Parts: sequence; structure tokens; C-alpha cells
Amino acid sequence: MRQVSVAMLEKQMQTRIAKLGQSKPFIIGSLVESRRKCGVKNCACANGVELHPAWILTKNSGGKTKSVYVPVSMVAEVGKWTKEYKKVKELLKEIDAFGEQIIAASKQRKKALARKSGEVK
Ligand SMILES: [Zn+2]
Repeated sequence: MRQVSVAMLEKQMQTRIAKLGQSKPFIIGSLVESRRKCGVKNCACANGVELHPAWILTKNSGGKTKSVYVPVSMVAEVGKWTKEYKKVKELLKEIDAFGEQIIAASKQRKKALARKSGEVK
């Protein structure tokens, strides 16, 4: 089996960390559109049919679904944040995977050195 260079893996990990540092603002969750009553008694929405559009950011928080109301003026921006988080999440996964590969490669190197010096365990 070909030895994977720890230095190369570390370099690739650093590249991802640098990318992570260049991230734009992000937020965890999905934006979903819903309809709601505003609570004003004589508003058209009081009949339960002509409801107001509302944007909710939903996220999983400790096993529970958390909902955050997002004002219309912020919907476009928050939409960008949620997209950015998908990139950040992917980078975190990659950095984590490189960490595991570095550990595995270090173990392999140790074994190979042990074999060379004849102290195979
Ligand atoms: Zn209303």
C-alpha cells in the first residue's frame, strides 16, 4: 500500500481552513414561507383565508425544531446566509475527514518504521 504523506494531508487541510476563514456571514437552518394571522381583529387576515406571508427560519436545536421569524426586509439576506452555511458545513466535513486521514497515516508510518527496524508487534 502506498504511503499517504501526512504533510500533504495537512496542506490540504490548511487550504480548507483558509477557505473557511474567507466565509461570508452564515446561519444554520432552512428558510420556509408560511402564512399567518397578524392578530389585528379587523384585518383581512382575521377570516383565516387572506393570511400574511411570513418567512420562518427553522433549525434543529438539541433535537427540537427551532423557528425564528424573519422579517420580509431580511429574507433575501438570510437566504444568502443559509446558502453560505451549506458551504461552511461541507468545509467542516472535509477538514474533519482530513484529521482522520492524518491520524490513520501517522499510524501507518509508525508501523512501517517498526517493521523496518525489526520490532514488529
Ligand atoms: Zn392581518
